[in-house]
Amino acid sequence: MAELSREQVSQLKKMLDDRYEALRVELHEEVNAKDEHVNVATGEVPDPADSSFANLTVDLDNAAITRDVEERRAIEAAHARMNEGTYGICIDCGVDIPFARLQVQPIAERCAPCQEKYERTHGDVASRGPTL
Ligand SMILES: [Zn+2]
Repeated sequence: MAELSREQVSQLKKMLDDRYEALRVELHEEVNAKDEHVNVATGEVPDPADSSFANLTVDLDNAAITRDVEERRAIEAAHARMNEGTYGICIDCGVDIPFARLQVQPIAERCAPCQEKYERTHGDVASRGPTL
């Protein structure tokens, strides 16, 4: 783990958990709206409880859902890094990501310079939504 105190990590974890739950609610509403759309189109009545996010991503045509699903994946990845003890360490250069940056962006996996470099070399990232 980067040089984060136990308190700092639990603070960031709580931010991730809160965001994850907010996204779950948001996705639920968006998926329900999409299901209604599907119902009109096919006359079928899919059970929302049976819709897994994995299946939904196959033919996503809703940018909001795509963004939320991707953010949830980023949060899951951050959780995984916390469990592995690699959270807060830049995946590109290995330096500790400053706590101040993590507070703004708990899912950040790169330090600011590496993120800028990444976005310069992957031009499509910037156009896909908020930058990390
Ligand atoms: Zn870096």
